[in-house]
Amino acid sequence: MTSKNDQLFARAQLSTPGGVNSPVRAFRSVGGTPRFITRAEGPYFWDADDRRYIDYIGSWGPAIVGHAHPDVVKAVQEAATRGLSFGAPTEAEIEMAELICRLVPSIEQVRLVSSGTEAAMSALRLARGATGRDKIIKFEGCYHGHADSLLVKAGSGLLTFGNPTSAGVPEDFAKHTLVLDYNDPAQLENVFKEMGDSIACVIVEPVAGNMNLLPATPEFLQTMRRVCTQYGAVMILDEVMSGFRVALGGAQSLYGITPDLTVLGKVIGGGLPVAAFGGRADIMRHLAPLGGVYQAGTLSGNPVTVAAGMATLKLIQAPGFYENLSAQTAKLVHGFSAAAREADIAFCANSVGGMFGLYFATEVPVSYDTMMKCDKTRFNAFFHAMLDAGVYLAPSAFEAGFVSAQHDDAIIESSIKAARAAFAQLADD
Ligand code: PMP
Repeated sequence: MTSKNDQLFARAQLSTPGGVNSPVRAFRSVGGTPRFITRAEGPYFWDADDRRYIDYIGSWGPAIVGHAHPDVVKAVQEAATRGLSFGAPTEAEIEMAELICRLVPSIEQVRLVSSGTEAAMSALRLARGATGRDKIIKFEGCYHGHADSLLVKAGSGLLTFGNPTSAGVPEDFAKHTLVLDYNDPAQLENVFKEMGDSIACVIVEPVAGNMNLLPATPEFLQTMRRVCTQYGAVMILDEVMSGFRVALGGAQSLYGITPDLTVLGKVIGGGLPVAAFGGRADIMRHLAPLGGVYQAGTLSGNPVTVAAGMATLKLIQAPGFYENLSAQTAKLVHGFSAAAREADIAFCANSVGGMFGLYFATEVPVSYDTMMKCDKTRFNAFFHAMLDAGVYLAPSAFEAGFVSAQHDDAIIESSIKAARAAFAQLADD
């Protein structure tokens, strides 16, 4: 008998390309039928066959206080009764901007948008507009949403500009993007020596979560800060994932780095579409209506989404919130690592705040190249064993995982127990 998930997936593929509205949801990388989710609460969600899972993706980051937190739901309900969208400013938007500026001190001014893609795309345009330069630098393995100039991979040589990674991106756009190696400060410095005067900005995930979890080395970010200042390029930290996830002040507070611009998303919307970009006021004033860099949005600063975000940002400021989140996440990855050792499986794991990485490798990878050497086949087998046991991990070997404040000791313990059985099964295969 086919499951309800199978039926829904077959039906979805008739009306939607691949049956999903965002590619990784289709389980292409791990195989099998995606789970269609019907409801979620705390650390759990339920699929169409009414199976319950411990959720370790949390909507890919936003669900940091757990699903359907009563405070967040109440804030959304109250806001919704006052009207869904006005297309005119509200006091709640000022409060959110003020709060973001207070929690992330490098942000002197901020603008709200509706997705991380939009925020990163706008930050790039702003950096280009403010510097009058076209060239940008990004790093292999980092994802900043799907704006044309960011869907680019490295060209044939160090100083050759990139090639599109997606059909539909003109080479003329990609040729302004230089793609360098993550965690290679010497290479970055050399490129700046060669062409620093034509670089508008460098954009980076300070704790990369889109090639599995890969934190930047402090030296890499410090070098970036130094060369950007020296050559007048804008340093952009993409904290869509790491912001309010690895620490209350984001990765920049952990590293002690002050970027010129920061890109935020995910947690700041608490599960509804809010993202933002902000930073130095002298750069932000180039934005319309003050300056010549155009940027706008019908639903930007939407009253309902802002209410969800504000309720979430209030909860994460509770004393001890990040200490607890980090401790629970560390407990999970230590438990997984110990379970793998018992089964003699080549595996290791890492975490930063409420984000974690699982690696089928003997050592924690420190670069994109070493990350790509992780055993994907083993990850896929582990993923399915865990899914069968009711633990939902990211359906790809190269995505980070997320823990919420509702993942208590019992949840972590039962996840480790499932991992112990999964590793034992892998050892037998
Ligand atoms: N930047 C980073 C670091 C991200 O992780 C993501 C999404 N995973 C984005 C940008 C794009 O955000 P969105 O999916 O909201 O467009």
